[in-house]
Formats: sequence, C-alpha cells, structure tokens
Amino acid sequence: MTAPLRSDAVRVRAPGKLNVYFEVGPLLDDGYHAVASAYQAVSLFEDVWAVPANDFRLEVIGSVDVSAVPLDDRNLALRAARILAQHTGYEGGVHLTIDKHVPVAGGMGGGSADAAAVLVACDALWGTEVGSAELQRLAARLGADVPFALMGGTAVGLGRGDRLSPALATGRFEWVIVLAEGGLSTPAVYRELDRLRTRSAAIGHPSTGAIRLAPTAGPHDDDADPVVATGVLHALRAGDAEDLAGHLHNDLQEAALSLRPELSDVLDLGDRAGALAGIVSGSGPTVAFLAADLESALELQVTLSAAGYSALHVHGPVPGARLI
Ligand code: ATP
Repeated sequence: MTAPLRSDAVRVRAPGKLNVYFEVGPLLDDGYHAVASAYQAVSLFEDVWAVPANDFRLEVIGSVDVSAVPLDDRNLALRAARILAQHTGYEGGVHLTIDKHVPVAGGMGGGSADAAAVLVACDALWGTEVGSAELQRLAARLGADVPFALMGGTAVGLGRGDRLSPALATGRFEWVIVLAEGGLSTPAVYRELDRLRTRSAAIGHPSTGAIRLAPTAGPHDDDADPVVATGVLHALRAGDAEDLAGHLHNDLQEAALSLRPELSDVLDLGDRAGALAGIVSGSGPTVAFLAADLESALELQVTLSAAGYSALHVHGPVPGARLI
C-alpha cells in the first residue's frame, strides 16, 4: 500500500454496506423513490488519509478496479471535504488518498463510505469539531447512503434511505460477496425497475412491483410509504442467520438481473453450494450470500472461487467511519 506515511496524516476507515432488506416505493413527482432499507455495515473497508494542504486534491488506489473513479469534484470524497470547509468557514484545503476495497458502482456504497470517512478525517485534521448530529446532516446532503456509512452497525433507513435509526443486531453474520466485472449505474437500475413495473401494470400482471405503483397523479399517498418487514428486525435482533435468510429481500434485484442476466448463474451456484440465501446488494451487481456460520462461509468462498468468481468473506455488523 503506497499511502502517506506522514506523521501529520489523519487516517479514517469506513465500511461498505449490504442492504439485507430493500423495498422501493413508487416513483415520486420529484423523480425519487421512497425506500425502506435495513442496512448492515460489513468488513470491507475504505481507508482514507488526509494531510494538510492549501488546495483540494485526491488520489485513489486500492485492491479493486479504480479506473472509473472520477478524481475531480464529481468525486463524493472531494465534495465532502468542500462541504465541510464551506460549512465551518475553514479556509485551507486537504490532500486525500483513498485506499479502495469496496467495488466501484457495485451496490455496496463505496463512494458514500469515502464521503463519510472524509467528513470525519477533515473534521479531525482541521480541528473544526463539528458535532456528530451536524456531521449526519452534512452527510445527508451528500447522498442517501452517506449517513449510514457514518453510523455503521445495523440500521433502518426510510425516506431516501437517509432517515436513519439504529437497529439492534446481536452476534455476527457471515457473508460471502461475489464481485462482478464492471459496475451498474444506480439511476439506470431504478429506471429499469420503473420500466418493469409499468410494463407489468400495463399487461395486468400485478407483480410485487406493480402493486407498489402510485395512483396515477397527484401527491404521493403517505400510507403507501414502504417499511422494513418486522421479520427482518426480529431476525437481526435474535442474531439468527437462518431466520434472516428467509427474510432477505431487494426490490431492485429483478431490475439488476434484467440488466445483468448472468447474475442469476451466481445466485444459483451459491444456492447449490450451501448458502442460506443470496441477494443482489443494493443496485448491484455485487451478490451477497448469507452463510450459517464461519466454516460454511469459508467453504462457500472456496467453491465460488473455484468456479472462477471473485468471492470474499466478510462479516457484519462493523462500526461506521472512525479514526484509526
Ligand atoms: P450508489 O448506490 O450510491 O450509486 P455504489 O455503491 O453502487 O453506490 P459507488 O462506488 O459508490 O457505487 O459509486 C457510484 C458512482 O459514483 C461511480 O461510478 C463514480 O462515477 C461515482 N463516484 C463519485 N465518487 C466516488 C468515489 N469516491 N468512489 C467511487 N465512485 C465514486
């Protein structure tokens, strides 16, 4: 790893996430969807180093393909640094190095983890002492998944996913994730979901998606806002992997599979190889399998790797963005 060894560098680690439950409400007038998400932070981390500087600069290295990561102000990490400087009136800058392990555009919130890490790193580096409630508010301005990357653990997110409350989870869940080559654009996956829902409504097949179609016009009915199924929360609270496996759900999965049909082969293989259940993570294309215990997870990882997939064992929950 070629990260800075400077003694004045601040280093922060932030986790990637899995959505163990993800329900998507109808398309709203503002172009967004209300969602209900049960997030779990997992042990695949982004490390960020921040060193004092007069300007803002970013370098990205890592174990995943980082060639698609923008290095200008489109990068969420640089935007996080600028938003904190603006909010606090800090007049200097920062040089950031991100060591990336969360797959880019993989549905695991890597960019959001970077942004959360930068908020914590710059706050420490600049001595701005922004409180955690204020950091959460800045995080929500950066993106729907950024507040969760700050909080970590296990949590329920409503609204756009950013209205967060911590969820009690006991024990440790063992996951095997399968990385895909190339990412999936989150907006493209949502568009595909809307297309599939409109199509199934038109042909009179009220699939899961079509049931959630909004009444044609007018304001969105609050009663229709999605919620996280109580079975998920029970399973998390009990630390019961088998029970949680029966409740894994992702409304974006059908759309991700429609854009990447080959992900069905991965899900089938994991199923045959002893996973309790498999799910597309967020908007994909990363696939996550829940295993019964550590030994099963390691066996599953070996089987998937032998079949030529890039499979990693991770566990959750883990803490949110923190200084290390
Ligand atoms: P999301 O669901 O929030 O889109 P994701 O986990 O699927 O997240 P990310 O790796 O967070 O995907 O990034 C999605 C896109 O955002 C990338 O394709 C890239 O163009 C842009 N991006 C901006 N900042 C970053 C960053 N720090 N790391 C990775 N991608 C970034």
